[in-house]
Amino acid sequence: MRAMVFTAVGQPLVERDLARPDPGPGAVRLDVRACGVCRTDLHIVDGELQRPKLPLVLGHQIVGTVNALGAGVTRFAPGQRVGVPWLAWTCGRCRYCQGGRENLCDEALFTGYDVDGGFAEETVADERYCFPIPDGYPDVQAAPLLCAGLIGYRAYSFAGAAERLGLYGFGAAAHIVCQVARAEGRRVFAFTRPGDTDGQAFALGLGAEWAGGSDERPPEELDAAIVFAPAGELVPAALAACGKGSSVVCAGIHMSEIPAFPYELLRGERSLRSVANLTRADGEAFMRAAPAVPVHTEVTVFPLAEAGAALETLRSGSVRGAVVISVATPG
Ligand SMILES: [Zn+2]
Ligand SMILES: [Zn+2]
Repeated sequence: MRAMVFTAVGQPLVERDLARPDPGPGAVRLDVRACGVCRTDLHIVDGELQRPKLPLVLGHQIVGTVNALGAGVTRFAPGQRVGVPWLAWTCGRCRYCQGGRENLCDEALFTGYDVDGGFAEETVADERYCFPIPDGYPDVQAAPLLCAGLIGYRAYSFAGAAERLGLYGFGAAAHIVCQVARAEGRRVFAFTRPGDTDGQAFALGLGAEWAGGSDERPPEELDAAIVFAPAGELVPAALAACGKGSSVVCAGIHMSEIPAFPYELLRGERSLRSVANLTRADGEAFMRAAPAVPVHTEVTVFPLAEAGAALETLRSGSVRGAVVISVATPG
C-alpha cells in the first residue's frame, strides 16, 4: 500500500510502498477514504511533540471502510464506514481509565503518533476506539469531525453555560464549535490572526456576531473563551477579555510559553484549564450532536501524494475550515 511517511524532523514526508498492515486481535483494517490534517501533525513534524514512532504514518482523523477483521471483532463488519480518532488505545486499568478519564491515561497510545495513522491507503485500528460515522457526511467532510470536531466539542463542554463565547484561532476546530454554539443560542466572538479579514468574514458567515484580530478587545466582556491557536500570549489576552466567573480553555496539545501576567487577570473566580485528547464518550456524544446541528465542515482537499503540501497549507493559515487528504483507491 502507498503511504506518506514521516522519517525525521525537518525532512519532507516521503511516498513509500509499505506492507499492508495486519489487523491483530480486536482490530479492523480499513481502506482509508479521507484523513484530516491537524495542527498536531505540524507539532509532530516540527519536533514539538518529541516521541513519535519513527518512521511514522501521520494522520488521526481517519474515515475508512472496513476491509478485514482481526480475531474477536464484534462492533464492525466489512464494508462499514468507520472513523478513527487521535486516541488509539488506553490501558483500561489505571485510575484515570477506571474513572471515566481515559483521555488522561499515562499509557495511552495515539493514532498517527505512537501507531501509524491515515496518510496511507490502508490502516488498522482497535475497534474499541473507533466510531461509526453519521450518514449524510461525505468522507472528506466527515474527517474533520474526528479531531477538530470532537476535541473542539470537549473544549466547548468545559466552557460551561457561557452566553458570550470567544474563540481564539478560527481554524478547523473553531469553525465547527461556532456552529454548535450558535445552534445552542450562544453568542460567538471570533479572534483571528490580526489582519486576517478573510478569516473574520468566514467567522461572521458562520454566525459569529463579532470577529476581529487576536490583538483586539471584543465589544463586550466574554463569559468564556477557548484558545485553539498554539500561542501562549493569547492566554492572558483571553483572560483580559473575560469577565468574573468566566472560563478560559486551552484546547491545543502544544502551546508556546505563556507569558507572566498579573493576578488581577485571574481574580474574580476566573478559571484557566486545558483539554487533553478525548474520551470515547466525547466521540459518541459529538457524533450524535454534529448531524443534529447540523455541523457543516468546510474543507480544502489534497490527494495523498500531496500530504506534505497539505501540511504546509495548514501552517500558512490560508484556508477556511479544515484541510483534508482524500485517498482515492487505485483502479
Ligand atoms: Zn488533531
Ligand atoms: Zn489507563
